Amino acid sequence: MRVRVDPLVCEANAVCVGLAPDVFDLDDEDELQILRPDVPPEDADRVRHAVRSCPKAALTLDE
Ligand code: SF4
Repeated sequence: MRVRVDPLVCEANAVCVGLAPDVFDLDDEDELQILRPDVPPEDADRVRHAVRSCPKAALTLDE
């Protein structure tokens, strides 16, 4: 499973960062960085929840 962000849609509100800080981070310019785009099975539920919680629907999962 891979996760990616559409930087044109992301508004850097850090919802995903709060739910999975080991996967998502905001850099000094408030751009979302995906620290680990390849999501291991044991983290899948947590990352899926973060993706669904994005209020801008800026995150996509390729399963
Ligand atoms: S929750 Fe969505 S809008 Fe907010 S920082 Fe994450 S990807 Fe961007």
